[in-house]
Amino acid sequence: MNISSAIFDRSAPDLDSCPDESLPEFAFIGRSNVGKSSLLNMLAGEEGMARVSPKPGFTRMINIFTMNERWRLVDLPGYGFAHGTRKNSARFNQAVADYLEHRTNLCLVFVLIDSGLAPQEIDLEFVEWLVRQSVPFVLVYTKIDKVSAATVQTNVATFTARISAWFEQPPTAFTSSAETGHGRQELLGVIEEQMTAIHAESSRAPVPGETQGTRTRLPKSPKRRPDLNRPW
Ligand code: GDP
Repeated sequence: MNISSAIFDRSAPDLDSCPDESLPEFAFIGRSNVGKSSLLNMLAGEEGMARVSPKPGFTRMINIFTMNERWRLVDLPGYGFAHGTRKNSARFNQAVADYLEHRTNLCLVFVLIDSGLAPQEIDLEFVEWLVRQSVPFVLVYTKIDKVSAATVQTNVATFTARISAWFEQPPTAFTSSAETGHGRQELLGVIEEQMTAIHAESSRAPVPGETQGTRTRLPKSPKRRPDLNRPW
């Protein structure tokens, strides 16, 4: 997929402020400093989102871009955000949780993990939370140019082992580098694949009695953790 346009739509402080649900959305999230902004600019290429100058508070908002006039890229606030008052961070965390739990046009979440680090508890807990909420996601191990291939391999293997008990099939995982552009085509390819599937689905004649427009999700775990246990 080529990106021919990346147009900033808005910075939304909460779910209610997000645009209508008319376009499929692909969201990106990770700890602060994981390389999310760099990755998003790398994905967007020359038409990039770097042109949009961040406003104060930008990193705490749900930042939404319309891509190729066909889908939306959603830049979610990083969890583990170190600045700001507790009150503010609680507010933005709630917005992220609401978005992930309730946004019906959310197709896929890209969870960014720093490939140079051993598994971080907050990443593991966030993945577990996504699994419990049945939010569809893939993993992206970032900054692979920064450390040796052996380190990346060890960290990916350890992370995979730590989360393996939660799945029958481990989630799809990618590696990326904003420096070299590694992973760009693969990540855009996933989005393209999903877009194709959505179009095929929407052009299929509805079967009488069939529910349309709902997200395909795994059944929710009956044992939901209270919100207070949200890790980020
Ligand atoms: P964010 O806080 O998740 O948005 O992270 P940034 O994109 O601002 O990146 C955090 C730091 O990591 C910056 O110093 C970037 O230059 C650096 N960085 C981000 N991605 C890469 C990468 O792929 N390779 C290398 N070597 N450094 C990166």
